[in-house]
Amino acid sequence: MDTKKRLYVGLLASSLLIMFLLLVLIWYLITKRSLLVNHIIIIILAAVVLVIFLMLGIGLMALVIMILRSRTIPSLESLAQRVHEMLFPLALLVGGVVGINKEKILRSYIAVNNYLVKSRRLWLRGEQIMILLPHCLQNSECPHKITVDVKNCKACGKCSVGDLKKLADNYHAVLKVATGGTLARKYITERKPSAVIAVACERDLSLGIQDMTVLPVIGVLNCRPHGPCVDTGVNLEEVESALKSICKGG
Ligand code: SF4
Repeated sequence: MDTKKRLYVGLLASSLLIMFLLLVLIWYLITKRSLLVNHIIIIILAAVVLVIFLMLGIGLMALVIMILRSRTIPSLESLAQRVHEMLFPLALLVGGVVGINKEKILRSYIAVNNYLVKSRRLWLRGEQIMILLPHCLQNSECPHKITVDVKNCKACGKCSVGDLKKLADNYHAVLKVATGGTLARKYITERKPSAVIAVACERDLSLGIQDMTVLPVIGVLNCRPHGPCVDTGVNLEEVESALKSICKGG
C-alpha cells in the first residue's frame, strides 16, 4: 500500500480504535458504578453529550427560524451554518437508508444554503462578486479557450456562455470558467471575491459549498439535456436573480 492510501486507512483504523476504546470506557464506567470517580466521569460525559445536543438543537432551530423568516439571526448565524455543515453527512446517510434519492437531498441542501446566504442581505458591488461557470457549459465544438480568458468567447449563441458574459458585464461581476475544483479555488484565491455565484451539478455544488465555508456561495443548478458534463445549460434568469439578491446594483 502506498503512503497516500496508508494515511487514509491509518486514520480510519484509528477512528475505529478510538470508538472501541470509548465503548470499553463506557461499559467499564457502567459496570463499576459503585466507584465515586466513575460517577463523576459519567456525569462529566453526560454533560458534554448534553451540551453538544443542545448546541445542535439550538443551531437547527435557528436554521429553521431563519428559513421561515427569510432573515438571518446574526448572533446565531455561524452556529446555524456549523450545524448545517455538521449534520449534512448524517442527513445523507439517513436519506440513503430510507431510500431518498441522493440528488434530491443535495438539491435541498443547496436550496437551504442559498436561503442562508440570501438572508444575510449582502449588499455587494458587482466587482466583489464572482460568477463561476463549469467548463461543460461551453459548446463542445467551440475552439475558443474560455478557461484561459472568458473574453475569448465570441458570443456566437451556440451556448449560454455569451449571454452570461453580457450579464456579468452588466453587473460588473467577475466571470470565470473552471475545469474543476482546483482551478475554481485558484480563481477564488487570486481574485478574493466577497461572494460567489456558482453554476454546476448537484454534486459539484454541494462539494464546493462545503469547501468554501467562510465564503458565501449561491448555487445555481445547471441543466443537462445531453447527459452529464457535456453541452450543459443554465437558466439565465436564475443566475440574474442570484446576482440581484446580493448585488447593490441589482
Ligand atoms: S457562445 Fe462563446 S463559448 Fe459558446 S460556442 Fe459561442 S464562442 Fe464558444
